[in-house]
Amino acid sequence: MHLIAKGSAKYSLHNLWILLAVLLPLGLGLVILYAQAERTLLHGSQEIATEAVRQFDMMLDYTDLAARNLLDLPGQECNAPRRLALREQVTHQPFVRSTGLVQGDIEYCSSLLGRSALAINPEDFVDGRLQMTSGNPITPNTGLLTYRLADGERAALASIDGYHLLNALRLISRTSYLQLRVGNLWLSKDGQFHSIAPPAAPVANQQLSSGRYPYSVSAGYAEGAVAGYMKSQYPALFSLLLFFSCMSGLLAHWLQKRSTSVRQELRRALAAREFIPYFQPVVRGDSLQWAGIEVLMRWQHPKEGLVRPDLFIPFAEHSGLIVPMTRLLMERTVQALAPQAEHFNDGFHIGINISASHCHDLQLLDDCRAFLAAFPPGKVILVLELTERELIEPTASTRQLFAALQELGVMIAIDDFGTGHSSLGYLRQFNVDYLKIDQSFVAMIGADALSLHILDSIIELSVKLDLGIVAEGIETAEQRDYLTNKGVDFLQGYLFGRPMPSADFVAALLRH
Ligand code: C2E
Ligand code: CA
Ligand code: CA
Repeated sequence: MHLIAKGSAKYSLHNLWILLAVLLPLGLGLVILYAQAERTLLHGSQEIATEAVRQFDMMLDYTDLAARNLLDLPGQECNAPRRLALREQVTHQPFVRSTGLVQGDIEYCSSLLGRSALAINPEDFVDGRLQMTSGNPITPNTGLLTYRLADGERAALASIDGYHLLNALRLISRTSYLQLRVGNLWLSKDGQFHSIAPPAAPVANQQLSSGRYPYSVSAGYAEGAVAGYMKSQYPALFSLLLFFSCMSGLLAHWLQKRSTSVRQELRRALAAREFIPYFQPVVRGDSLQWAGIEVLMRWQHPKEGLVRPDLFIPFAEHSGLIVPMTRLLMERTVQALAPQAEHFNDGFHIGINISASHCHDLQLLDDCRAFLAAFPPGKVILVLELTERELIEPTASTRQLFAALQELGVMIAIDDFGTGHSSLGYLRQFNVDYLKIDQSFVAMIGADALSLHILDSIIELSVKLDLGIVAEGIETAEQRDYLTNKGVDFLQGYLFGRPMPSADFVAALLRH
């Protein structure tokens, strides 16, 4: 029951990750597309407003021209030649439906009625120039835009039929909102006149006033226009987005599966105690006698055979299994070596590789204590090898741990020295005893002058700091001779012995 509950929790966490891997790029992509669509619509409504102003300005230019041509006439009698002149402007100027002459506040002559007497109030015109009406006594159902050009008491009028205004509104924007405003009257695309401002367009609302005549237009889009635009314009992008989101989900699924299966496999191997120690001798620099060993982990896999540590240690460190694995390795080392303790010289060094995560609490201290207790006092020296690439943070608890380890007689070696960036302060803080020069520097002996220089510097440094030095990866007699000449304390490498299983090691030890 317990197992099932735990499994399903893990399963749902797994699904949550996959869901996140799908939804995150999908959501992000949609947000970007939405913003893009919004920008496009805003740009579109700006263009529509600009175009509408251009059209209405152009129409009004004709009324202005007609009125200008007539401006000499107001005050003169409304006789046949004058009426003809009025009608001429209606015929010649596009969009102009009617013209008229005003003297005082009376339109006394018009192209439609000839002689007349219509009261005209200049105050009804915006800026004294422009008036929009939803109809007039002659054509009550047709809107009218009248342009007034005044010269003192006299004025000429020219009007545009509402039909042209409406036609322009509809042609310029088939799908969006578009309104023409003159004074306190609005004309919308449905042909309705409104005497209060209609609600602003919910999307991409844009208002634009003409620079030349006293009117303005407002453009915009209906609710949901952005989504509609996306639906009609972005189907290919949507498919692409969906594809990549699914790929991201698949990748997340695959990565999860892989890491869970590696972790599960390591856990199984740990339970089956498949991790075994190999021992590699470390010799003294002066006498080349065996001074100790380094314990190196191998995975005795039932199907894959012997697996090298660099193939699984990173996963073990990542999944937190390295600590119990190291504990198992120490246990097995004790099993193999404790019975042979009488064959060791006193102070035989046993080096164990320790990951940084092992140093987070005082358990390591117990592990070391148990290890040392298995040997006669003074027989072995336990050396913990910490790689310089993954330094331990100096906190109160790690300082306490290292002080306790020192008290226990455990020594500390900085492994792969020269590849990381430990400082002198760091070496002191953790009471480091040995530096293990990284193999890459040793490999350069006889090859690369710069590396050799680094090697010499490390050796000098360790002498100055009074630290023991171990050189590893020694394969040739030339390397050995160079290092012994430099007075390096300990040497390790295939030249002196390869890492070997415990039975071989014990046999070799007895031969020594
Ligand atoms: P390392 O601690 O630097 O161990 C030395 C490596 O150099 C070992 O590789 C050893 O077999 C190899 N070696 C020794 N002499 C020579 C030589 O003359 N020439 C060459 N080319 N190589 C030589 P190995 O055993 O494959 O281990 C690789 C790394 O895996 C180790 O590097 C260490 O970082 C890690 N490792 C091994 N066992 C453990 C363990 O129990 N715990 C942890 N945390 N890491 C381990
Ligand atoms: Ca090591
Ligand atoms: Ca090393």
